[in-house]
Amino acid sequence: IKKVSKQYEKDAAPVKKTAVLGAGIMGGGVAYQSASKGVPILMKDINDKALQLGLDEATKLLNGQIKRGKMDAQQMAKVLTQITPTLSYGDFDRVDLVVEAVVENAKVKASVLADVEKAVSPDTILTSNTSTISITELAKSLERPENFCGMHFFNPVHRMPLVEVIRGEKSSEVAIARTVAYAKAMGKTPIVVNDCPGFLVNRVLFPYFAGFSLLLRDGADFVQVDKVMERFGWPMGPAYLLDVVGIDTGHHADSVMAQGFPDRMGHEGENAIDRLYQLQRFGQKNNKGFYRYE
Ligand code: NAD
Repeated sequence: IKKVSKQYEKDAAPVKKTAVLGAGIMGGGVAYQSASKGVPILMKDINDKALQLGLDEATKLLNGQIKRGKMDAQQMAKVLTQITPTLSYGDFDRVDLVVEAVVENAKVKASVLADVEKAVSPDTILTSNTSTISITELAKSLERPENFCGMHFFNPVHRMPLVEVIRGEKSSEVAIARTVAYAKAMGKTPIVVNDCPGFLVNRVLFPYFAGFSLLLRDGADFVQVDKVMERFGWPMGPAYLLDVVGIDTGHHADSVMAQGFPDRMGHEGENAIDRLYQLQRFGQKNNKGFYRYE
């Protein structure tokens, strides 16, 4: 864990308008969190259906706030006006910072980042919410790699305080400081970490998932493992957590971690995550993963 220079943090130009690429589990959550803290955000995806899912998620979270008496209908409407759904890069020249939150695939991310870089102004900070992919590698698709770093939120974004800010080889102090400032403006607790597959938290979490997969291979029952981990005191067990994360995202991240740390991931042949992925059981997002959801 690295310190961000206090001077840079003090001098960092404030982040007043932002954008998120991808309106999925994470993109929708980032849009909600930014808007509810008063930082307007553009939310871009590739089709109307995906954008609607992101807006539905934000609306659901806001309705929850109303039910708990923390907000009234007028305040909710105001927050929603801070999220602008879009299918184009039209207004991106006016944003200070972009959070890329598209699928966990290095090629797709590299191409999306190269596209968005052409649409933003020269000093806009680009960040990626990748769970595992090297920031230094992703930066190779950019003309201004100094303006790029990782901004890794956790799921669900509105509840998880931690944000990993990842320093790639070429990330500038200004990029890190402005990203840290935005995380704080969103009410989060940022930590600055070095670049490597999985950064800090997922270097702990994915070997745990690998251990879980090996247990299943040895014949364990995933429901029992989940129950045991809950009794152990964790909020949920590994199977349920993978369903929340998304089996597709978990599968892609697991492959990156297995490549990065083959000795620690015990990855020989197909594991339970690969199997569910092939069966297109993507977890809660399509109502079936380890468990079935109605
Ligand atoms: P998701 O599948 O829910 O959403 C991905 C979204 O990206 C979809 O709406 C898809 O239509 C959109 N998309 C695909 N290509 C696009 C493009 N070219 N331009 C704009 N949008 C595009 O995935 P997610 O769970 O939200 O994950 C997004 C990123 O966040 C991944 O990198 C993932 O590793 C990371 N992440 C996920 C979690 C988690 O628990 N799910 C936690 C932390 C970080």
